[in-house]
Amino acid sequence: MTQKQTLNFQAEVAQLLHLVTHSLYSNKDIFLRELVSNASDACDKLRFEALQDNGLHEDAPNLEVRIEFDAAARTLSITDNGIGMSEAEAIENLGTIAKSGTREFMNRLSGDQKADAQLIGQFGVGFYSGFIVADRITVESRRAGLKPEAGVRWESAGTGDFEVEALTRAERGTRVTLHLREDAADYLSPWKLRSIIGKYSDHISLPIMMRKEGSPEEWETVNSATALWARPKKDITPEQYREFYKAISHDYEDPLAWSHNRVEGTTDFTQLLFIPSHAPFDLWNRDKAHGVKLYVRRVFIMDDAEALLPLYLRFVKGVVDSFDLPLNVSRELLQESRDVKAIREGNTRRVLTMLEDLAKGDDYAKFYGEFGPVLKEGLGEDFGNRERLARLLRFASTQSDSVSVSFADYKARMKEGQSAIYYITGDTLAAAKNSPQLEIFRKKGIEVLLMADRVDEWALNYLDEFDGTPLQSVAKGAVDLGGLQDEAEKKAAEEAAESFKPVLAKLKEALKDKALDVRATTRLVDSPACLVVTEGGMSTQLARLLKQAGQKAPDVKPVLEVNPEHPLVKKLDGSPNFQDLAHILFDQALLAEGGLPEDPAAYVKRVNALLA
Ligand code: ADP
Repeated sequence: MTQKQTLNFQAEVAQLLHLVTHSLYSNKDIFLRELVSNASDACDKLRFEALQDNGLHEDAPNLEVRIEFDAAARTLSITDNGIGMSEAEAIENLGTIAKSGTREFMNRLSGDQKADAQLIGQFGVGFYSGFIVADRITVESRRAGLKPEAGVRWESAGTGDFEVEALTRAERGTRVTLHLREDAADYLSPWKLRSIIGKYSDHISLPIMMRKEGSPEEWETVNSATALWARPKKDITPEQYREFYKAISHDYEDPLAWSHNRVEGTTDFTQLLFIPSHAPFDLWNRDKAHGVKLYVRRVFIMDDAEALLPLYLRFVKGVVDSFDLPLNVSRELLQESRDVKAIREGNTRRVLTMLEDLAKGDDYAKFYGEFGPVLKEGLGEDFGNRERLARLLRFASTQSDSVSVSFADYKARMKEGQSAIYYITGDTLAAAKNSPQLEIFRKKGIEVLLMADRVDEWALNYLDEFDGTPLQSVAKGAVDLGGLQDEAEKKAAEEAAESFKPVLAKLKEALKDKALDVRATTRLVDSPACLVVTEGGMSTQLARLLKQAGQKAPDVKPVLEVNPEHPLVKKLDGSPNFQDLAHILFDQALLAEGGLPEDPAAYVKRVNALLA
């Protein structure tokens, strides 16, 4: 194809571009970081591909990025001799967004420029950030290994469309030329450019070159040009760590913590891991874990966190540089490699240590609010670290509205004679807190942990005990207060249950299609009845959630527990409306825990009949 072609941007790109130019004024400088980062990625890709095909280096084996400007023309250009793009690649890469979750992300934008600017920072605008400062961008590129005539010129004003045409380009790689807006002319200054590079791109391992002041024929390197993680820790300032984090994560906020280590043992590697301060937009996308980049002796291999960290730590960002892996390591090989396994375990231990340290300070609440639910997945995924993970969990409780109670805190407050850690799950914290199942616990002043994250029910399945104390759901099985119940109470309860037996039998018969069993309970104080599931059974909430999510869930028949002391229950004996009352009792218990009667209309009819 030689003729000039005008093509439309994918709708999401057009939307993104609009946002970029309208809401990212406050932090203009980042465009340079993004473009330099793309240039550096392109060089990484060349280096990687050249491992298989040395010819790709052509006659320019030294990878580098050059930045220069033309004040008269008001242009600024960033040139790399990396992998470059073919015409098809330019159309694809610069005209569409391949990122998964793009559509959902776009839907979350509110139209409020300030809020959107923050979100968009998280998403990573990459190449398109050039349009913050430019009203036109020209990209000239040629893919390594293709003929000079196979180059491409791409140009756009960043609105609805872009143009592409064929180009002959002797050098491989890419040159991005920004035609600066009038109000961005301050970037036409060597001093300004150098200071931005120093701040945002110093860690780039390639030389970033600019013309020497005073003798413009000569070029000089203006960054440190060594990978940040490969430098001694003592030479790296906290500011540099933070900027490095922002560059690799596209985050606009500082990380909560980081850890930088040279690990020696089964396998040698350097790890530099960061804990972000807020969740990315795609945190729940479990099949696209990314964010920890793998290098082998400084050569970038892939951005594939999955091999390097368990999935429940997918929020971690960073770099791993292995000394032992072969350079031609493939994804398949990664999964089987013992070195990779050792790296993964080392990373996991390190992250848990970071979190343990974080848990000592005030930042932990922030961390936990963002990533707590993800961390809980670890109970089911990482048996080896279950104990450590359990210590990192925090919950709300009947004694604390904030999600801040650890199992250890709970244990320290346990009542004399209490032998279990009690918890309840609900659709929301409020629902859990108001659950009738808690009544006896409240009366006796026994703390119960409240759980309302979707993963809780599932995750807690994997945790039977903490530090020797069993965990017990107050909504499962018969209530067993063990040593917390005194003898007199026990006796009274047994007697009440005995005299209540005939009514129970009738209830059981009336509700045989709905309830697995009906029994008397001492767990209720103010409520007439509640539903529980059998020990080891799936809770009704979880079953409901699974069904909502379109998954198969067993039809759990709950157990109806009734409070023989309650006036409504006392009325049952000999009542002419026994059948209706029995069903109302059951349906109300269901309503109280956030469920819906099987036949809501019938329920309303029965209640109304009684009211009338
Ligand atoms: P990201 O870098 O997050 O993938 P960008 O919007 O910054 O997103 O870039 C989109 C794509 O364009 C890149 O993934 C890459 O394939 C291509 N690209 C951008 N800049 C360059 C460059 N300097 N050399 C080669 N390819 C590039």
